[in-house]
Amino acid sequence: MAGAELIGKEEMKQVMDVLKTGVLMRYGFDKERKGIFKVRELEQEFAKYCGAKYALGVTSGSSALKVALTALDVGPGDQVICPAFTFLATYEAVLEVGAIPVMADIDESLNLDPDDIERKLTSSTKAVIPVHMCGAPARIDKILKVAKKHKLLVLEDNAQGCGGSFKGKKLGTFGQMGIFSFDYYKTLTTGEGGMILTDSQKLYQRADWYHDHGHDHNPKVSRAMEGRSILGFNYRMNELQGAVGLAQLRKLDGLIAEQKKNKQAIKDVLAQVKGVKFRKIPDPAGDTATFLAFNFPSETHAEKFQKAMADKGVDAVIFKKNAWHYVPNWEHFLAKSTANSKKYPFADPINKGAVKYDRKSIPQAEDLLGRTLVIGISVKMPKERFNKIKAAIEKAADVL
Ligand SMILES: *Cc1c(COP(=O)(O)O)cnc(C)c1O
Repeated sequence: MAGAELIGKEEMKQVMDVLKTGVLMRYGFDKERKGIFKVRELEQEFAKYCGAKYALGVTSGSSALKVALTALDVGPGDQVICPAFTFLATYEAVLEVGAIPVMADIDESLNLDPDDIERKLTSSTKAVIPVHMCGAPARIDKILKVAKKHKLLVLEDNAQGCGGSFKGKKLGTFGQMGIFSFDYYKTLTTGEGGMILTDSQKLYQRADWYHDHGHDHNPKVSRAMEGRSILGFNYRMNELQGAVGLAQLRKLDGLIAEQKKNKQAIKDVLAQVKGVKFRKIPDPAGDTATFLAFNFPSETHAEKFQKAMADKGVDAVIFKKNAWHYVPNWEHFLAKSTANSKKYPFADPINKGAVKYDRKSIPQAEDLLGRTLVIGISVKMPKERFNKIKAAIEKAADVL
């Protein structure tokens, strides 16, 4: 549960700063707010922490994806390549802007396989969304290379890898834009919330305008007098979220260090089990260690091991069977059951050619996700918790 485990007096202090002024909105009320700008402060600190030029706080990771895709001008008629293993929001965001998601395979990192991008390309492909799943980096260097070759935009979905890196560079800063989720399950949490990173002033500006009804945020005039040149919507982060985020960000490196320690301890136990192999992490130093993924020679082995651990009170996920994180299991998505009765954008003639979401087109995901078990790593792992996990693993090893 990561950041949620650490909510304490630092978050309370930050939130109280806001409540004392009573100004819960990030914009306006310059006299009443007495110099308190928590969202702005979080954006500045987050950008600096990640080494990006611009950061924009928004209401969620899902809205961050939508705002970023909009800023990148991805829309009707465009296709966006996304990995088969991700949370539903990645695909939903593509549909939200009127484009069509195209499902691509994963590699042994459990993230988008750069070698599959070319196989999934069409003349409509505009962008690719690599997702750093379960806290660890994709082969982002290779993905960037392929994207560059085919002039594709890259939007990193780093909802699950906040604070992670690849060869010393923070995840979320490789593509034209990167997004983060601060929902309650995520590494850094503000209850609900999200962040967008970019080095491009132009992209930042479009995202900034779009996320707040087109407001150009001209500091020289009052909010009511601000100009606008594009239509937008409301995806504004509020000051309470900004406040919690600031306290959480300052704990992030310590949190990751603790998770790494706990993950290693469990890994050491698992390494003793015959046949167990670990997820290939392209740069282990950049892992945030929120999850530990390990695999078996077959699905049968994985299922047996999962059941035996569950009997001892320790849960592990086989993502091939998960309802929310694996495209072939999204029956409502496959049936194009859009909330609108027109089946937009699937049925829009501009989105020409039916895109298929066939299990046969993602053989590595079908193989890897069926025989991989994933367990969550907590920040706090008292001795009793560790002993329970160790006992479950040792018991499960016996049934193999
Ligand atoms: C959580 C998540 C999102 C969406 O973030 P929310 O803040 O919950 O809207 C997007 N992509 C991935 C990979 C996620 O795990």
